Amino acid sequence: MKQSILNCTIEELEEAFLGIGIPKYRAKQVFEWVYRFGKTSFFEMTNIGKELQAQLDRAFYIFRPQIAKVSKSVDGTIKFLLQLHDLNKIETVFIPELKRNTICISSQVGCAVGCKFCNTGYNGFIRNLTTEEIVAQFLVIKDYLNLWQEGTERLSNIVFMGMGEPLYNHVNVLKAVSNFMFDSKTGLSRRKITTSTSGIAPMIEKLAPTFPCRLAISLHAPNDLIRSRIMPINDIYNIKSIIDACEKYSDCHSYLKITFEYLLLKDVNDSDVCAFELTNLLSNLNAKVNILQFNSWCGCEFQASNRASTFSAILEKSGIPAPIRTRRGVDIMAACGQLSNANS
Ligand code: SF4
Repeated sequence: MKQSILNCTIEELEEAFLGIGIPKYRAKQVFEWVYRFGKTSFFEMTNIGKELQAQLDRAFYIFRPQIAKVSKSVDGTIKFLLQLHDLNKIETVFIPELKRNTICISSQVGCAVGCKFCNTGYNGFIRNLTTEEIVAQFLVIKDYLNLWQEGTERLSNIVFMGMGEPLYNHVNVLKAVSNFMFDSKTGLSRRKITTSTSGIAPMIEKLAPTFPCRLAISLHAPNDLIRSRIMPINDIYNIKSIIDACEKYSDCHSYLKITFEYLLLKDVNDSDVCAFELTNLLSNLNAKVNILQFNSWCGCEFQASNRASTFSAILEKSGIPAPIRTRRGVDIMAACGQLSNANS
């Protein structure tokens, strides 16, 4: 059976090559063709001899998911419904901005965490994505947007904020992150990749010393009472355990701010009291709060709040940066909490 190039880190590919008698340095050449030039055929890798091209083609393949549907928002956001080998589907979102182009990547088919405001969680969990399925989301969007030529725009940022809880699939997610960072010329730096978690505290603590990128926490509430109501996982990993884990991350990466995502829900978590409570909670951390505005979807009990400015001002006054994030892709169900493999 052929082996997947995209499932391997560079070290794993070197080992696999050595195992079949191919010199180690060839792995770096193949990686450059794959990640710098977007090649999917070994026969296009011109610094590799014909015999070796054929040998590689017999032993390996370079995966791309099928683009099942493309939805374009009036604000420029593009949502891709991607079909995998086993016909499961995931969504990936391209978000162009003035100074950067972000791609929002999924880490699982569905999600088991079940946040009450999230369409992905509502539809349940199917399986983890493999490393190749994570990496290929980035590559297939570069194909679609024709971004492989030098001088074209870059996909400058990656956020793991699509479908799934990345830390429940941390092995494959972290392998993918290392592949995104591989190429010194076109790879992304650790500051440009953010992994967002619903707060799997023991995993944050365990991974803290070697965590290769930025960390974002989907907090959404300043106390356990409110958080457990909207995020049942809080009954397992409560706010104190998350803050303690974040302190460990900060000890190891003091120069990187931790982002706390805070989705404002009308009459649930949007009061001044909540804002002051949040200020106290985060006062000892190098933190930033992203204020998100709720995007409704059919079947959800919550409503959007109109208190974003006041809420943000309270945090900012106490020295915590709290930008209000612009809604993107609402008209195509591509905004925060709206992704699903069932609605597209
Ligand atoms: S918000 Fe994230 S962690 Fe929560 S259910 Fe949705 S995808 Fe899962």
